[in-house]
Order: sequence, then structure tokens, then C-alpha cells
Amino acid sequence: MSSEKNTSEWAILTDVTKCIGCEFCVEGCKALNETGEDRPWPWQAKINDLSATRWTTIERLGKDRFVRRQCRHCAEPACVSACPVGALTKTPEGPVVYDSIKCMGCRYCMMACPFLVPRYSWDEAVPSIRKCVMCFERIQSGEVKEPGCTAACPTGATIFGRRGELLGEAWQRVRANPDVYLQHVFGEHEAGGTSVLEISDVDIALPATVPSDPLPNRTWGALKTVPLVFLGMGATMLGLRWLIGRRDLLRNEEQAVEEQAVEEQEG
Ligand code: SF4
Ligand code: SF4
Ligand code: SF4
Repeated sequence: MSSEKNTSEWAILTDVTKCIGCEFCVEGCKALNETGEDRPWPWQAKINDLSATRWTTIERLGKDRFVRRQCRHCAEPACVSACPVGALTKTPEGPVVYDSIKCMGCRYCMMACPFLVPRYSWDEAVPSIRKCVMCFERIQSGEVKEPGCTAACPTGATIFGRRGELLGEAWQRVRANPDVYLQHVFGEHEAGGTSVLEISDVDIALPATVPSDPLPNRTWGALKTVPLVFLGMGATMLGLRWLIGRRDLLRNEEQAVEEQAVEEQEG
């Protein structure tokens, strides 16, 4: 799918020249998605790195420029093609969502993502992948009209809309102000096109691993070089781990319900 064919998909455009680094978008995301308090791990590169509880973050570039990081909702997501159990899905509306019940914790998506986005909820009883889902269910159900992050931005630096319209808006701003902006819309073509776009007066330093063509074919090209016997063993072990984890979780839930019932009878 080329970037010209997904114009009606939902998208987010961030204008780096308007961002003041206030992190209201981060808080808006946390509040709407109830991601919980940040619990940074010792191995995290930075305290404000993306994490299981921080699905978007603000990175400082140079002295006074800030760029928002989040899942880019690729047109042809490598994470989706890498997931062996179909836990990640590219929706027709554009957002790339996941089903944490299906996730078996193999973390292939983390390895496959060229933008280094998915994170793992290490401190949960049954960990799974976490990342920005473009507030898909909440918008689709009508609970909100736009993502928590764009709604919270006080300067209009980050806005929500259809990809075609936002691309048009981005190029209009860029072309009208050639002395200000780099003549480039980030996300228009990177990794085959993404639904998160940026315009900027400085290079926003997308990871150096990102090529301009879609990545799923490369994902499977690489996986094909892994001997099948190892993949089979790995899948079996992960399947067992997944089953044991789910069993323990269900047991804990049953136990909690029983304890609550006993307490209510006694009370
Ligand atoms: S940025 Fe990474 S996690 Fe997000 S859709 Fe693209 S490949 Fe998947
Ligand atoms: S689109 Fe939704 S889930 Fe993604 S960063 Fe914004 S508020 Fe968070
Ligand atoms: S809320 Fe807007 S201005 Fe503040 S950090 Fe986020 S994108 Fe930048």
C-alpha cells in the first residue's frame, strides 16, 4: 500500500516548530488510556523513554526543539507481519492495535519495529506488549472525538485528522514557509508511509534503521533464515509459558473473587 492510497486513514500531524515541550500530550494520553504511573526500569535509556505506561513521550532535540515519539501506525507494519499469533492488527481505519490476551510474549514485534516503539509490561503477572493505539476503541465507540494527546496540546502542535488532509496541510505549511521548514514531511514515505507525520525546521532524527520501502517482506526474509526446528522449539516453549501465565492469572482472579465473597459473608 503506498502513501497515496491510504489518504482516508486516521493520522496525527505534529509541527515541531510549535511544540513547547510541556508534555501535556503525554499526560493526556496517560489519563485517557489509564496507563498508570511511570515505573522506569534501570535499563531504560532515559527516564522519559517510551514504556509500558508511557505510550508517547517528548524528546529534546538540541537546545530548544522537542519531538514527540509514539507508534507511527505504519501503512505496512513490520510488527504485524512479525507477530506469529496475530496479536497485532492493522485496522482499516489506520491505527495498529493489539490484543494483549493473544500476545504470548515472544517480543518479535519489538525486534521488527524499525522505529523501536513496542514496549513490554515487565512488572505485570502476565506481561504483554504495550504501545500507542491511536485511542482506537475510544474514538470508534464515540467516547472521544480525538486522541487524548492531540486534545491536550495547548499550542496546536499536534493535531488529529485524515492522513490525506494532514499531508495536504503539512505540505501547505512547508511550501509556504521555505525559510522556516525543512522541505520534507516525515512519515510520508519512511517505512512505506506512516499515519504519524511531522514537519520541522530540524532533522527529527528518526532511527537510522528506517528505510523508505515497506518492511514486512524483510521481516519474513530474516525469519526464514532461522532453522525451523528452533522456531518450533521456541514456539512450543512460548506457548507453554503463555498457557501457564494465563492459568495463573485466572487462578489469582478466582482466588480474589472467593476471598471477596468470604469477606462479604463475614461482614
Ligand atoms: S511504528 Fe513499529 S509498532 Fe508502530 S506500527 Fe510501525 S512497526 Fe508497528
Ligand atoms: S494517540 Fe492515543 S494512545 Fe496514542 S499517544 Fe495519543 S493519546 Fe496516547
Ligand atoms: S502538548 Fe503540544 S506543545 Fe506540549 S509537548 Fe505535547 S505536542 Fe508539544
